[in-house]
Amino acid sequence: MHPQKIISIIAMEEVLETRIKQAIRDVKDFPKKGILFKDITPIFLNANLTRDIVDEMAKRIHPNIDIICGIESRGFLFGILLAQKLEKPFVMIRKAGKLPAEKIAVQYKLEYGEAIIEMHKGFIQPNQRVLIHDDLLATGGTALAASELIRQQQGIVEQYSFLVELSFLKGQELLKTVSNQIDSLVIY
Ligand code: AMP
Repeated sequence: MHPQKIISIIAMEEVLETRIKQAIRDVKDFPKKGILFKDITPIFLNANLTRDIVDEMAKRIHPNIDIICGIESRGFLFGILLAQKLEKPFVMIRKAGKLPAEKIAVQYKLEYGEAIIEMHKGFIQPNQRVLIHDDLLATGGTALAASELIRQQQGIVEQYSFLVELSFLKGQELLKTVSNQIDSLVIY
């Protein structure tokens, strides 16, 4: 690729990162004291920004991905838009007790206590290459538990995609045990 073109692509990505950071709102002590919550809801007030995010995420998805799994609940927002853009199937990974039909479950540790995530049985076929998407990567525990749901159905976790990554929590280290393809649009 022509060097000038590479420079302009990098510049575009930087501009998008700045636009996303400007839209994200920091909420102190939510949902509990000591947590700085990254509120992505203002992004969706801006249709152009939402579209540009989906376009950029789509560009970064490996072409051999067969199916996209989004993690409840903010992982559904860009997850489903991304799946539509790439014309791929989309599967919801939900918190315990929300899915109506036959399902599989994985229990995992949170900072305090435990959580369970679930997925409908039969939506992932053996050897399908899966992209796991969530709004934010923190410690990586949630995305790792989602990976276990995929593994139990003989799917292959090929790539992770996040809008935001809190790099100081080192979630990448945990997820790299599954796949080296970890993509975040915005890193703090
Ligand atoms: P983790 O399992 O630690 O990687 O946490 C990731 C999940 O928790 C994602 O579904 C996020 O939506 C949510 N989360 C964790 N920390 C934050 C934060 N500081 N701001 C917003 N969401 C967060």
